[in-house]
Amino acid sequence: MTEEKEIPDFDVNDILKVEYKPVPNDDYEEQKIVFYCHDCAKLVDTESKGKKLKFVCKECQGSDLSYGTERSIRNYYNMPEAND
Ligand SMILES: [Zn+2]
Repeated sequence: MTEEKEIPDFDVNDILKVEYKPVPNDDYEEQKIVFYCHDCAKLVDTESKGKKLKFVCKECQGSDLSYGTERSIRNYYNMPEAND
């Protein structure tokens, strides 16, 4: 019996709308969107699945992902800048 795991449905435009608010006195232009996999407990590459933009972790194929600017994700998960 196959268990259909629900894959979060991201829209890149929504991500950009939410995350790319201009931040005064911040180098927001240099920030990029990164994905954090809760299963791998680190920043991971993702690949899209299906017709819509659905992302899964490239390493474990998991869909338990958080995303945001690299800075916000690193702050949130308390990861030092150099830990890559
Ligand atoms: Zn993973």
